[in-house]
Amino acid sequence: MIRPPSDAVLARPVTILGATGSVGLATLDLIAEARARWGEDAIPIEALTARTSVDELAALAKKFRPKLAVVSDPSYRRALESALAGTGVEVAAGDPAVIEAAQRPAPWVMSAIVGAAGLEPTLAAARRGAAIAIANKEALVCAGDLVTAEVARGGGALLPVDSEHNAIFQALRDEDLDRVEKITLTASGGPFRTWTLAEMARATPEQAVAHPNWSMGAKISVDSATLMNKGLELIEARCLFGVETARLDAVVHPQSVVHGLVAFCDGSVLAQLGAADMRIPIASALAWPERTPTDAPRLDLAALRELTFEPPDPVRFPCLELARHAMESGHQATAVLNAANEEAVAAFLDRKIAFLDIPRIVEEALTAHAGVSTSDDIGGLAERLDLDRAARKIARDAVGLAAV
Ligand code: NAD
Ligand code: MG
Repeated sequence: MIRPPSDAVLARPVTILGATGSVGLATLDLIAEARARWGEDAIPIEALTARTSVDELAALAKKFRPKLAVVSDPSYRRALESALAGTGVEVAAGDPAVIEAAQRPAPWVMSAIVGAAGLEPTLAAARRGAAIAIANKEALVCAGDLVTAEVARGGGALLPVDSEHNAIFQALRDEDLDRVEKITLTASGGPFRTWTLAEMARATPEQAVAHPNWSMGAKISVDSATLMNKGLELIEARCLFGVETARLDAVVHPQSVVHGLVAFCDGSVLAQLGAADMRIPIASALAWPERTPTDAPRLDLAALRELTFEPPDPVRFPCLELARHAMESGHQATAVLNAANEEAVAAFLDRKIAFLDIPRIVEEALTAHAGVSTSDDIGGLAERLDLDRAARKIARDAVGLAAV
């Protein structure tokens, strides 16, 4: 007999930032499942936010009855107001309204906006001591030190949702970090794992987002195809687990069954396994520190027959090394890496540049930045946002020159 979660979980109000995205929707799926099992009052929702997808947001608000629905693009305010008229759901619009949504008193917040755009709302939730389920890895790559400092000050918690980090979080429970030899993240290798460089040079956005194992938003899908995703995740791991870069590693594992491994000083290795379904790591964060049942597919190891592992290829996937270098250079470099990558990926999705221009543009931004500053002391949020803007400009100029 499986024990249900306690009221501490089922009655805990939540806010979902980025509710219409792939992670946001998976979170809402779990809430729908919890309500079907334990009643319509389970897991009340304080706020749901989205950028422009008003129809979807309104439909979610009608179904899940949050107190507040926010669209960050203010030109959609009217549309959201009229879609939710008479429902009793409060409506707000604009970037400041997303930050205000994060400030409202939900003890658990899913941070699932994509990109550095999620940083300020995440900081706002951290400041008031919420438990933050963090999917928004870019916030940690561009300002992880600020996020962890704010979480420590606010007295809340960071609950990793990225499948690899959630795996490691589970494997590390009650273990001493100073007995950990190595933390290994697995990578599927993405859709181009077996492609030649010549084939990759001609890759289209459709091919890049067609991930073999996971169904995800467009940006992270392209990051998985370049392996930048694994690079961002190494930086994310350093920030979440506080281990130095020498103890962090990535290995390609095309089946995406083993998500992360922790090797200890006695030779033991603990790993977390599961189907490639984001509901599993999200459920672990949603019920934290308990567990909750999910309908996610179960593993059948005998049917799988084989789990394989191989080293990443640095020639075809230079993004991983770029990220490692940035991580070793410090917070400024990781902020530049993230901003340039966001711009390059957007340009690739817009068909302005070729797939292999992505690492080239990121490298250009990192080189340009290294010539300007080497200090790791970049102050607070304002300085970080300035750096983000400067790196985006360098990347956009490089996109202009590379335009196909
Ligand atoms: P997505 O593109 O599917 O959804 C993004 C969400 O953020 C949407 O609700 C969108 O409306 C909102 N949004 C986008 N830009 C915004 C902006 N400027 N301001 C406010 N809101 C904005 O993305 P996703 O795949 O769900 O990924 C979300 C985050 O989770 C990313 O950081 C990604 O790296 C991380 N992540 C995703 C997965 C996955 O399986 N999708 C797995 C691990 C980590
Ligand atoms: Mg991941």
